[in-house]
Amino acid sequence: MSENLLLFGPPGVGKGTQAQRLSSVFQIQHIATGDMLRAAIQSYTPLGQRAKSFIDKGQLVPDDLVLDLLGERLQQPDTRRGFLLDGFPRTVPQAAELDRMLASYGKTLDRVIVLDAPEEELVKRISGRRTCESCQASYHVVARPPRVPGFCDRCGGVLSQRSDDSEEIIRNRLREFTAKTRPVIDYFVTHDWPVRMIDAAGNMDQIFGRIYAAILLS
Ligand code: AMP
Repeated sequence: MSENLLLFGPPGVGKGTQAQRLSSVFQIQHIATGDMLRAAIQSYTPLGQRAKSFIDKGQLVPDDLVLDLLGERLQQPDTRRGFLLDGFPRTVPQAAELDRMLASYGKTLDRVIVLDAPEEELVKRISGRRTCESCQASYHVVARPPRVPGFCDRCGGVLSQRSDDSEEIIRNRLREFTAKTRPVIDYFVTHDWPVRMIDAAGNMDQIFGRIYAAILLS
């Protein structure tokens, strides 16, 4: 079964964790613009260098940079069996461009999952977040600690905190979300995208269960 999914929500709501699980259950490509931008920064590409100053401040990267990355990725053959977009679109122009791109590649979205949780909960989730430097698996110091502190259960890699996960930068990212990203929900609704709103309170398994049901029960 091929599924084209989109996972939408504020920073810290758990998109990355849920996306890893969903892409493995549905055997589809996980496409996270944040991961792609961080990879571009690590490889010192010109695009990465331009994106870095925005990410470090907790601001959104300009639309043209993200659209270039995404347009190329969606045309790769491994997306034919399905994909899961995570962290894109984040502005109304990105949503409109995604609409246009999908139509031109002959693709449609089967489900748009909108996750939400209160802001203080988001700050708690992000500030405890740790990511494996090798395989990108995510952990939380309280909610999902690794077996050996500081190291990944899956591959033994070193866990680190993202530089934009400090409390000051988190507040900026949440402000960006409210000002530029939340309005995208209205775009989805007015353009009849197949939206399901999901309460992201609770633990990872509970949230996964709600998302899974929303995808399967049309
Ligand atoms: P994420 O890993 O999704 O939390 O993204 C980390 C950072 O990358 C964000 O705070 C933005 O600066 C940037 N970013 C990721 N995706 C996008 C996007 N679709 N549009 C603009 N900026 C983005």
